Amino acid sequence: MSIDWEAGENLAEYIKLRESGKLNVGQRPKICRSCSETNCFWAHGSYCRHLEEGELSADIKVPRWKCGPCGCTESSPPSFAVPRSRYTKRVMGAGVGGYAGGLTSYRMEVVKLGEVGPSPSQLFQWVKEIAGKANGLLVEVQGMCLSAGKEEGLLRAEAAICPNSYKAVVEGKSEKLDTLAKLKSFAGVLFQASGEEFCRLGLLLLEKGGQQIFSSQEEMVSTPQRRKPRNCRLF
Ligand SMILES: [Zn+2]
Repeated sequence: MSIDWEAGENLAEYIKLRESGKLNVGQRPKICRSCSETNCFWAHGSYCRHLEEGELSADIKVPRWKCGPCGCTESSPPSFAVPRSRYTKRVMGAGVGGYAGGLTSYRMEVVKLGEVGPSPSQLFQWVKEIAGKANGLLVEVQGMCLSAGKEEGLLRAEAAICPNSYKAVVEGKSEKLDTLAKLKSFAGVLFQASGEEFCRLGLLLLEKGGQQIFSSQEEMVSTPQRRKPRNCRLF
């Protein structure tokens, strides 16, 4: 997989670019990871992915490439897509950030994520997954804050706790949730409290070192999980 960075930072931007004819999809991968040859890929069709973000949903075309010398194939999905998930990084980031930062419940948070947004149990899984990685990510983000010269606010970020951690029943979960809240706070320092800390952090880490912090366990189908419309309050 090689990431297409020119397709916008989120689905809303992608759709805008596509509608105005400015979408430049498909950056051909430069180097083949299996045979190390350079400039060896030719276009090899595309596949369609259904993505959702708040009230928006779209079928997007992901170009495929084939290496001439070794025959391996690559695709270049947009940066905001999450492997095997129909929800974008923005949806996952908003859900995880909402749960990490305020007194709430999974049920209350998913209501904000769009008409056919994730179920409470899906949000629970996302929170669990990112909270499990939070320790390592925290060290990385603290380092980024320091090298970006953003010492201000670090003490406050260090003091952050998750207001929902008292509800954790599994051993060690409440500590992980508190670390998740710290991670959100440090990312807020880094991005100057954008309100989309996890989404932006996900994009930054992917850009810097190819690290995918959002992932999804299962292949998502395009059928909406919920039929009852909900109003999206976030995007
Ligand atoms: Zn190759």
